[in-house]
Amino acid sequence: MTVPQTGPLIIPARRAAPVEGAAVVSPSFDRFGRRIDYLRISLTDRCNLRCVYCMPATGMHFAPKDELLTDEELLRLVRLTTELGFRKFRLTGGEPTIRPNLPDLIRAIKALPGVEEVALTTNAILLAKQAAGLAAAGLDRVNISIDTLDPDRFRRITRGGDMAKVFDGIRAAEEHGLTPIKLNAVVVRGFNDHEVADLAGLTIAHPWQMRFIEIMPLDGVFDVAHERLVPPPRAARSSRRGGGR
Ligand code: SF4
Repeated sequence: MTVPQTGPLIIPARRAAPVEGAAVVSPSFDRFGRRIDYLRISLTDRCNLRCVYCMPATGMHFAPKDELLTDEELLRLVRLTTELGFRKFRLTGGEPTIRPNLPDLIRAIKALPGVEEVALTTNAILLAKQAAGLAAAGLDRVNISIDTLDPDRFRRITRGGDMAKVFDGIRAAEEHGLTPIKLNAVVVRGFNDHEVADLAGLTIAHPWQMRFIEIMPLDGVFDVAHERLVPPPRAARSSRRGGGR
């Protein structure tokens, strides 16, 4: 990638003639000339789990439903961003699979001119039931959150989640071609930091990609992030130490 060194930065009006020798910057390029064509859209702030590092056990305040973007507003947003050069869209939450009419929304997004890819980040609890419909609607692939391989620990981290459903969801996603499957694990000191190597080992037995994510300070659970942060280099060292397990 070449970083422009000379010439003025120009925000072109639409259909403006290019200025010779100038570094042209549009809303879809950053100041170093790197193209930005990927947008994440949160469909809801609600979730069917309550991970300890994400939400408090009780007292979580969610946005009133009438403050969330409607499907029509989301489609308008995607259409406007495709006009700026965005091509890839990732739907997230909260948990996006609890949004009503998700397949219809995905189908409508995929039908918009300029949209090349729609992906979903999910906890996969509902994915076994939904994978076929989502794939038929045009969903391209999924990222799935999985922080541990121990069912009891999963239940504790998620405050009640059933890990078997996650693996059912992963299998359903594979079966319906929502690939490549990427797995996300938030590394939390004292919860799952000793499992980094085992989680990485999933990529040996399966065609999955594993990514380790630094815990973020989120509303209502700042103390968890403060006390239990595992910096990425340490997570990477733990993963390498596990070798081919
Ligand atoms: S981390 Fe993901 S799955 Fe867990 S509560 Fe938050 S949104 Fe839900």
